[in-house]
Amino acid sequence: MSEGKQTVNAPVLKDFKGQGALYDGLIRTLEEGTFVHAYLISGLEGMGKRTLSRLMAQHLLCTGENKPCGVCPACIQVQEGNHPDVLVVTPGKPISPDVKAGLQGIPVDEIRYVISLVGQHTFVGGRRVIIIERADKMNQSAQNALLKTLEEPMPGTVFLLLTDSPELLLPTIVSRCRALKLHPWPDETVLHALRVHGVEGAMAKNALHVSGGSIGRALAVAADEEYWKRRSDVIRDFFDIPSRSDILRIATAWRERKDEAEALLADIEDMVRTLMLVRLGQRDASVINDFPAPWQRLAQEGELKAFVSLMEAVGESRKLRQNQVTWQAVVEKLLLRLMEEKSKWST
Ligand SMILES: [Zn+2]
Repeated sequence: MSEGKQTVNAPVLKDFKGQGALYDGLIRTLEEGTFVHAYLISGLEGMGKRTLSRLMAQHLLCTGENKPCGVCPACIQVQEGNHPDVLVVTPGKPISPDVKAGLQGIPVDEIRYVISLVGQHTFVGGRRVIIIERADKMNQSAQNALLKTLEEPMPGTVFLLLTDSPELLLPTIVSRCRALKLHPWPDETVLHALRVHGVEGAMAKNALHVSGGSIGRALAVAADEEYWKRRSDVIRDFFDIPSRSDILRIATAWRERKDEAEALLADIEDMVRTLMLVRLGQRDASVINDFPAPWQRLAQEGELKAFVSLMEAVGESRKLRQNQVTWQAVVEKLLLRLMEEKSKWST
């Protein structure tokens, strides 16, 4: 990564060098001009999926010499989000006038509308890019409508599907896209990004530890007082459950915090991952100083499968939520599992 503020204002493809094989393959594709008509960019939230999609769009539409030049009108329009040949599908911000704004998913009408736009429009450079953010938010019929288009590609049109949950997409969609999977960033890359944004010292270290290798998450938690407040609540309620008889009380309290459900599950997953990284010697034990003693023992002596099973329990919670199980019931089940593990390590 280059030094200085430039990195923040205008990311460049080279910023993705730390992604190894993904970067090498992409650069080869770009240099040879061997673009396919659909890509699936996946990876945890904050890994750079949006940034990468914009850079790919720039490369496709750039009218300068060294693509993407970053300074030609096309590059600037893509960066500013107003290039006429780039359509961005985002849940909640529909392009179609017939889809209600604020709707959580991506309905079939939105996909049909976007495809019809591509059909009628004449294009500046003969190419167009359709970016579908949170592609997993497409419902079944939206996915089926998209699938038809992917099966009969439109000349000059490149689809970029972005998701942190590729398993929610139809396997037939996944198999029609070339996969670009972003991996966790190295610590020094995350720390560099934090430094560029003015985050240093203990906060940088804390943010790194909870980032899971996601630059976006590191920056978000560093700026989020709520996160650090919730962290102490989560450790108290989920990792220090006094006894079985407290589960109902705790779950009832969290029933009111349903809007924090996703964030809570991500927090717990991160915490378990951090405990595991301490066990593996990849994190300093000081990062779990605020955990109750049994968890510190687990992080010293636990078997790997204990951590894996706890992470699976979090995954199971997500699945239950998708299956419309009440949030309180999901919390109760997770609390029970965490208490079970804690009691194994209580002396
Ligand atoms: Zn350009």
